[in-house]
Amino acid sequence: MHEFSLAQSVYDTTLSVARKHKVKQIRKVVLKFGIFALIQEDQFRFCFDLIKSDSKMTAETVLDILWVPGELKCLECDFKGEVSSFPQEHQELAPIFQCPSCKSFSTEIISGTEAIIDSLVF
Ligand SMILES: [Zn+2]
Repeated sequence: MHEFSLAQSVYDTTLSVARKHKVKQIRKVVLKFGIFALIQEDQFRFCFDLIKSDSKMTAETVLDILWVPGELKCLECDFKGEVSSFPQEHQELAPIFQCPSCKSFSTEIISGTEAIIDSLVF
């Protein structure tokens, strides 16, 4: 399960940063997820809530999730722009996007695949 391992790594990173700064409690974790990172927010929150109860430092931690829009580049016509949804026939691992301008399938995702910790509030 993709969300569980992601939640675990967010938790591990958060704890190690908190220890480095010698803080006792982490109030908030701000995350940035790209819409193409294929993360189910509900599942992610559920997993993180399970894991965070392991430590007093994170027991009360609130998650703030910012969704980053996706951007597509067309290799045929140089179109560059935001795409907000997956193509209908998308497959989990390798979604193929069609250029909204020239309908070509030679496209490249240039942003929207990130899953990163943006900031921590102690
Ligand atoms: Zn194009």
